[in-house]
Amino acid sequence: MKKIVSVLLFSLLFLLALPVTGHAASAPQTKIILDGQELMLPSDVEVVNINKNVMIPIRVVAENLKFKVQWNQKTQNVSIEQNAKVLSLNVGKTEASVQNEKVQLNTAPRLIKNTVVVPLRFVSEEMGLSVSWNNKDKVVGLTSAAVPSDEPSPVPAPAVPGQGSSTEWSKVSDISFANQQLVVSVDTEVTPQITRLNNPDRIVVDLPNTAFGEMGPALQQGKMGKLDVSGIPNVTEIRYSLFKNDPAQVRVVIELNNLSDVQANTQYVSGKLIVDLALTGIIGIPVSPSGSDSGKSVVVIDAGHGGKDPGTIGISNTQEKNFTLPLALKVQALLLQEPDIEVVMTRETDVYPTRPERVQLANTLNADVFVSIHGNSVKASPQSSGTETYYYKRSSSKQLADIVHKHLIEALGFKDRKVKNGNLEVLRNTTMPAVLLEIGFLSNPDEEQAMFSESVQNKAAQAIVDGIKEFLNQS
Ligand SMILES: [Zn+2]
Repeated sequence: MKKIVSVLLFSLLFLLALPVTGHAASAPQTKIILDGQELMLPSDVEVVNINKNVMIPIRVVAENLKFKVQWNQKTQNVSIEQNAKVLSLNVGKTEASVQNEKVQLNTAPRLIKNTVVVPLRFVSEEMGLSVSWNNKDKVVGLTSAAVPSDEPSPVPAPAVPGQGSSTEWSKVSDISFANQQLVVSVDTEVTPQITRLNNPDRIVVDLPNTAFGEMGPALQQGKMGKLDVSGIPNVTEIRYSLFKNDPAQVRVVIELNNLSDVQANTQYVSGKLIVDLALTGIIGIPVSPSGSDSGKSVVVIDAGHGGKDPGTIGISNTQEKNFTLPLALKVQALLLQEPDIEVVMTRETDVYPTRPERVQLANTLNADVFVSIHGNSVKASPQSSGTETYYYKRSSSKQLADIVHKHLIEALGFKDRKVKNGNLEVLRNTTMPAVLLEIGFLSNPDEEQAMFSESVQNKAAQAIVDGIKEFLNQS
């Protein structure tokens, strides 16, 4: 219980960390260079100068310098440990101890806006780092003889001749968490370094040679982002940041109540790095094979075809892949507004994941629903028209098909070609309720034109979302 309390307090302190302004603040912002590489501090952390001492939040000590830190709220004591060497500091007191021997500090640790800050030089030197200070540029240089810690040192990027530094990194375009799995959309396969740490219990996922791509304004370089983890058992916080600039390295930290029973298995499927925390036997938490343990349902939206596979060709030479993607993205946009649904796309650009990859993605995620979006075509019969919806064998898939089909027919008013059983790979090999939608006929001139119009796509997207929601509420 005591441990849980201290972990919670520790997390709380982090959450409450705010930039310090006024006389204590340094301008320009102090930089910390560790072994030649600038530490990318989270955006809500600020280094402050007090009495000419650079003071850093204990979170930086734990996360960036990688020492073990314990904070005791009651006694206002900070304990910092590395290789069996223990420093003990107290808020408001210049008296500290190193291996139980008393030492005097120039400046006492302080509590600034609910963040404990400690003197960087003292902590670093006691832990065997050599420290330099460039007052003009406000740069602290730290040098380690060996890389301290139980977190592995980053792997340097291989030199890539003839390429600019901004283009050689893999790019992360999305991070989400569902079904006890961290899902990172990244454009090339990366091998993550996984580190398990205590105080607080956490798993650190480092992606070498990786930077952020298009993730929105809140997720730019040097900023820290957080995922909404409310309702997820065992997970207390998930944050991500660009940990280093050159070579770039994205870091995701998953804080947990209890690390001991958690595995971290990783795989790369269809443009997604999946880190499966595979909770095994945590007391009081039922281990569920499906999404019910996360509080959120996982919906996989599959835009048919893509890249080298155009799909069918419409009457005016349109390509099916150029119909399925914009519609799928509209469905995604609507699902992103649903607090109880986690949406994962098999593709978000003009690329071609194979059908087995699409299936594997949905199965690996233990998704609750799989929806594949397509357009129909019968070249020889331009008068053919209408919406048809496929499922394969499973009654849960048929139930999903019936509901989504009903909404599509109501919304679009296309001819009702009914719900059909179809032995299609993405339906046959997926393990969750799965449907394939043939929205209309691209070989029919009127339907082709309608299917490429914004208004019809918006109606179709809303109908698909309405159907998914109705199905999830029933099941
Ligand atoms: Zn198709």
